[in-house]
Amino acid sequence: MSNRYSRQERFEGLGPGGQERIGLGTVVVLGCGALGTLSSGLLVRAGVGRVRIVDRDIIELHNLQRQHLFDEDDVALGLPKAVAAQRKLAVTNRDVVVEATVADIGPANVLELIAGADVVVDGLDNFEARLLVNDACLKLGIPWVYGGAVSAHGAVMVIRPGKTACFRCLVPGIPDGRLPTCETAGVLASAPTTVAAMQVVEALKLLAGVEDRISRDLVSMDLWHGGFTAIHIEPRSGCEACAGTYEYLARDIRGETEVMCSAVQVRPLAPRSLDLEQIARQLDGLGEILANEHMLQFDGEGISFVLFPDGRAVVNETTDVSFARAVYSKYIGT
Ligand SMILES: [Zn+2]
Repeated sequence: MSNRYSRQERFEGLGPGGQERIGLGTVVVLGCGALGTLSSGLLVRAGVGRVRIVDRDIIELHNLQRQHLFDEDDVALGLPKAVAAQRKLAVTNRDVVVEATVADIGPANVLELIAGADVVVDGLDNFEARLLVNDACLKLGIPWVYGGAVSAHGAVMVIRPGKTACFRCLVPGIPDGRLPTCETAGVLASAPTTVAAMQVVEALKLLAGVEDRISRDLVSMDLWHGGFTAIHIEPRSGCEACAGTYEYLARDIRGETEVMCSAVQVRPLAPRSLDLEQIARQLDGLGEILANEHMLQFDGEGISFVLFPDGRAVVNETTDVSFARAVYSKYIGT
């Protein structure tokens, strides 16, 4: 008799027992860009019991080059990435519980977002968020699989609290200066695709409990010039996170701005719940508005921003924090 997972069960590393354990597992995918779309798709197809996808952004046309789950209709609808991914994956495998959360991952919500996870898979795009996730996973004792990709490079590392080096052993703090990003250095879709595929293999090993096969190395790759390297990372003596001091988890980022590639995100000072319909009516006639229950996109008067119900705004086409704050107070209020 054939079943949906027969090919995976025939793979000797897993077998029917491994598949059964995978089916009982919960994985949280943080970030749903190129890495997150691929990894959540692979996890759902592999039959992981529950997959929770967390992302803060909406889909843009330039995402389609590498973000596998999305299409042009999603861009036209202005759907958040997490919601579009959930819609696609819910019908890809109805045996899997696929959850979507549209949220900006921060110290105030990260523990709740990853609670109950057997494994966390990294689909994030910056070191600060990864250092926060590292703190949260160490605090809760949840293994997580780091993955990063830019240009034709990528890297993967499994972090198991108390058993391996952590991410902060590798990256002690947010690096100085501007690092290459997908915006500045570009990215070939094959780089995040390769990284996500490797992250998911490690996640499946963790879920299946195949202890002796889980990678203990930082694996780096350069797909353009060819080659993979694997370096064993030892825990760093003096690592704050390993010692139980969770600096990134303790930070208060309310009201802070975050300069992204070509946009500034403004966070509200206090938790708030915006009435997007009412704001859409106020903006009527001032520019083009695309609004749904998840977001409001405004383009007019030389200004472009996206507003979310939790009070966050992403002001596009600027890296000027004071300009972004001025836009926020003019159009949304303080
Ligand atoms: Zn550490």
